[in-house]
Amino acid sequence: MSFVVVGAGPAGVRVADRLAAAGQAVTLIGDEPGVPYDRVALSRYLAREVTAHDLRRPPALGVRHLAGLRIAAIDRAARRVIASNGRRIGYATLVLATGAAAFRLPLPGADLPHVRLYRTLADVETMIGAASRGGEAIVIGGGLLGLEAAAGLALRGMRVTVLHAADRLMERQLDPPAAARLQAHLAIQGMAVRTLANTQAITPAGVTLADGTQLPARLVVIAVGIRPNSALAAAAGLAVGRGIVVDDAMRTSDPAILACGECAEHRGQCVGLVAPALAQAEIAARTALGEPARYRASADSAALKIAGAPVWSAGEIAAPDTDALVLDDPDGGYRRLLLRNDRLVGAVLYGATEDAPWYMRLIRDARPLGALRDVLPFGPAFA
Ligand SMILES: Cc1cc2nc3c(=O)[nH]c(=O)nc-3n(C[C@H](O)[C@H](O)[C@H](O)COP(=O)(O)OP(=O)(O)OC[C@H]3O[C@@H](n4cnc5c(N)ncnc54)[C@H](O)[C@@H]3O)c2cc1C
Repeated sequence: MSFVVVGAGPAGVRVADRLAAAGQAVTLIGDEPGVPYDRVALSRYLAREVTAHDLRRPPALGVRHLAGLRIAAIDRAARRVIASNGRRIGYATLVLATGAAAFRLPLPGADLPHVRLYRTLADVETMIGAASRGGEAIVIGGGLLGLEAAAGLALRGMRVTVLHAADRLMERQLDPPAAARLQAHLAIQGMAVRTLANTQAITPAGVTLADGTQLPARLVVIAVGIRPNSALAAAAGLAVGRGIVVDDAMRTSDPAILACGECAEHRGQCVGLVAPALAQAEIAARTALGEPARYRASADSAALKIAGAPVWSAGEIAAPDTDALVLDDPDGGYRRLLLRNDRLVGAVLYGATEDAPWYMRLIRDARPLGALRDVLPFGPAFA
């Protein structure tokens, strides 16, 4: 019995490692060149905190890894995948871990050579090359990834402007006071931020905004969100919504094919963080091995990896029918806690994030807070 995993990102590598550890023959196929790497750490690489070598995450011994090979089709009847170079590889069980791709805004000029998405090691190497020549950079997107890209480019000597369509940075995580603090911090580090900035076109010389403003740029980075890579599955006739539809065991509509990670859609949700992608990979591996396993989504956390601007958020960000407890202490940081039915359902910490694990536990436990509610914003030291 042979296993084939398509996609050598964190989820695919995890599945392959687990199958190899169970003594199974497994082939891991990825279209990116070279050794699999830690995508999450790309921002740290851009910010010179780690080297390219530190990013390497080779699969376990026993995994046959085919790098730089793109799977173009799945022949379900013959149980084989077909690569774009015509190579055919048979499977007994296929695991799709094709991840997601950064969304390229449908703007005039978005395909120009000085425009990069922020997703792969190749994207980051190009950004580093551009930064070595200095000059102006524009990052379109003021969410987590856009800000990490901006901070890295600024650290490498570029003059960076962040263009963000919403009225504040990271509007899905931060409310106005916290976003204002973050923007002030970025300004001190030399980054300009334009909110409510509606980009109309990218030109060889820079960017044109809807109000006619022209901003010069040698490098334009688009970081405005991701789309699950589900076209391969859709073309093979598998059920696909936003992502590849899977059940709790990570099975697709074809029982011989599983899917996990950012390409998958589980109970209507596609994940966008590495922890749930890996949790799904563990379930997919167990299902592939014939063990009973069920994936249950749980609250996840995300952190902004910019030196001096710690932001951590978990659970629900802005939900109806919730109460917010806010602590805005100019010295001790900013906290916004969302409660529903006397339970903590979401938290945003800015400035002082050392209590994050405690809030994460409270969100996951979902127990009534009772008297804890009154001291909740002050952290475990007061509980
Ligand atoms: C710069 C950056 C920073 C991030 N920071 C964080 C963070 O701090 N915390 C966090 O939780 N998450 C973070 N993420 C998100 C995290 O990287 C993803 O959640 C994670 O990579 C998802 O893993 P995956 O294996 O599902 O998909 P991917 O990592 O996208 O891997 C899928 C792989 O499959 C390949 N592939 C696709 N189609 C084919 C095909 N047809 N044939 C062969 N190969 C194919 C792709 O090229 C890719 O290599 C960050 C992402 C980026 C880009």
